[in-house]
Amino acid sequence: MDFSQRVFCGEVKTDDAGRDILLAGWVDAYRDHGGLLFIHLRDRSGIIQIVFSPDVAGENFCRQAAALRAEFCIAVQGEVRRRLSGTENPNIETGEIEIFVKKLNVLGESDPLPFAISDKAMVAGSASAGEDNVAEDLRLQYRYLDIRRPVMQNNLLLRHRIFLTVREFLSSRGFVEVETPCLTMSTPEGARDYLVPSRVHEQKFYALPQSPQLFKQLLMIGGMERYFQLARCFRDEDLRPNRQPEFTQLDIEASFIDEEFLYDLIEDLTCRMFSIGGITLKRPFARMTYREAMDTTGSDRPDLRFGLRFVEVTDLFSQTKYAIFRQILQRGGCIKGINIKGQSEKLSKNVLQNEYAKEIAPSFGAKGMTWMRAEEGRLESNIVQFFSEAELNGLKKRFNVEDGDVLIMVADPSYQIVVSALGQLRLHLANRLGLISAGSFYPVWVTEFPLFEATDEGGVTSSHHPFTAPDRVDFDPKNVEDLLQLRSRAYDLVVNGEELGGGSIRINNRDLQRKIFAALGLTEEETKEKFGFFLRAFDFGAPPHGGLALGMDRTVSMILQTSSIREVIAFPKNRSAACPLTGAPSSVKREQLAELGLLNPGGENTLPGDAHQENLLDRISWVSRIGATAEERKTLEQALVQADKLAILARENAGLDDPLCTVTPVANRMREGAKEKRSIFAEKGQLLKSAPAVKGSYFKVNAVLE
Ligand code: ASP
Repeated sequence: MDFSQRVFCGEVKTDDAGRDILLAGWVDAYRDHGGLLFIHLRDRSGIIQIVFSPDVAGENFCRQAAALRAEFCIAVQGEVRRRLSGTENPNIETGEIEIFVKKLNVLGESDPLPFAISDKAMVAGSASAGEDNVAEDLRLQYRYLDIRRPVMQNNLLLRHRIFLTVREFLSSRGFVEVETPCLTMSTPEGARDYLVPSRVHEQKFYALPQSPQLFKQLLMIGGMERYFQLARCFRDEDLRPNRQPEFTQLDIEASFIDEEFLYDLIEDLTCRMFSIGGITLKRPFARMTYREAMDTTGSDRPDLRFGLRFVEVTDLFSQTKYAIFRQILQRGGCIKGINIKGQSEKLSKNVLQNEYAKEIAPSFGAKGMTWMRAEEGRLESNIVQFFSEAELNGLKKRFNVEDGDVLIMVADPSYQIVVSALGQLRLHLANRLGLISAGSFYPVWVTEFPLFEATDEGGVTSSHHPFTAPDRVDFDPKNVEDLLQLRSRAYDLVVNGEELGGGSIRINNRDLQRKIFAALGLTEEETKEKFGFFLRAFDFGAPPHGGLALGMDRTVSMILQTSSIREVIAFPKNRSAACPLTGAPSSVKREQLAELGLLNPGGENTLPGDAHQENLLDRISWVSRIGATAEERKTLEQALVQADKLAILARENAGLDDPLCTVTPVANRMREGAKEKRSIFAEKGQLLKSAPAVKGSYFKVNAVLE
């Protein structure tokens, strides 16, 4: 079959009427009209109706066509005809024409499908299959079928277009795409590493990169100046709904730049990417410091599509007689609230008291929630009588209260609890009251993060990663209080409450980098062991540099407004980080583990590389790649003792000092007086004649004999 003449289904036009064309694709749906058979033929470009009529196709092809079923892969040759008036199908782009088939070739038959693929109705006016409710694991198990669905194909095509835009735009701005290794050393991004054992270097491991952070900085030191990469990253994190253990990051780094350079670059790029999904973003993007974001939305990923910002009211109650507030303030606490403008009709006393104050707020960690409704110029609630006129007037003024408004307040000795509970209430209310308009996008840069977070052990850990520049350098690495005051030159890009990415201006001074490691509690030795190679690079003129990374699965998913990031990844893992298609992760053969030096010789929780090296029995198990159960070990130990005795005896009898045999670490020794000489059988090529597998002058042996 000559496919060079093939025409794409979606590209046939009414003007083609009268032409003979060749089409190839899959049977999307079929309808048998007794004598006439109609088929929707689908390829990547779209769907077209093909008709088998005995007058045109002949008996033979019609008989063959009657056996066609959904998802058979076929090629047909036929004539393009305009449909009869009244039989056009507006559900498909090519609904005004159809192909009268003259020849049919079945290229691949299909089993009955595990789920429906077609989503286009064949008859004008009838309902299409629409969104089906196939279990996601089944879709992932048959992902190649799922990908045949036009909506999935469209997702992958648009993802491709977005990636193309990224590449074109960044190249035009002088950025060079450079690949960095996947088999590498651990990169600290706060997650666990995926480890890859090395067969060649027994008991040594590579780590898959959590990000190309160290390499991109080294590229800057290497003078590449502007780098980007659509990089695959791997993070072994606890399962979360919109996370994947491997994901794609747009990784960027540039030298001799500052924050403003990056904001400008990324805003431009983000607008271009979103426009592929038909979304226009307004520039410049909003900016908010971390402090402001926490103070007014309770989140470092503020959703700014709606108001409901927090208002600080602690000071209004400094003299309060209301016992609950008074006690909280005496303990150094704070009070914040939200004015839910004009919503008192939707938020009745009952809803506020019995749902929000009693159930919802406590489920978000608040010990309670105070509410008030504004009616006829007054604030009403079950507790207003406990507040002074001055306090109530203060509230009215601070919140800009008008009739129909609802105030909610959370008070707690802990600032964290107040902002976190109020932040969750804010989102809950926005959803409940329908305050988030669909299709609106609100990007914001969040800046000035704390450089460190406190650990439970009384130390600090990096909020981003340890290469982020602090806002000042005069800190004492041992003074935790001081360290927690430091701000970083980091920034996150947040859209609609989701973090699309983030980065920072980096440290480019060796001593400062050392000081940060010291603050993190790393000793000189540890620093050297983990980052010695990296720090060494700073000895050779490191330029000022900075960058960021955007999570591309998330970004594409947001642009295409899909229900999860898995919809924009060809072969994602499911929610339990497994792949229903391939069965990964799967167990491996013991032989494979042995080859990698990972067999557990003692059958206990020891890994090769530690205790077994000292223990003779473990050593033998290890050398021979045989695991022994606790029961077997006893017998083997007795046998060893016995063997040892025999060996000593034999040695004494023979008058030798050296042991006769050894299973302890092996070394090559030549017999004294022996000379290297090639056997004549080797010369004649007979030596390895009956060996099972030969390579050069060597033959392969089982791992056990290595
Ligand atoms: N490496 C960082 C990350 O993966 C991004 C950056 O700092 O450029 O989050």
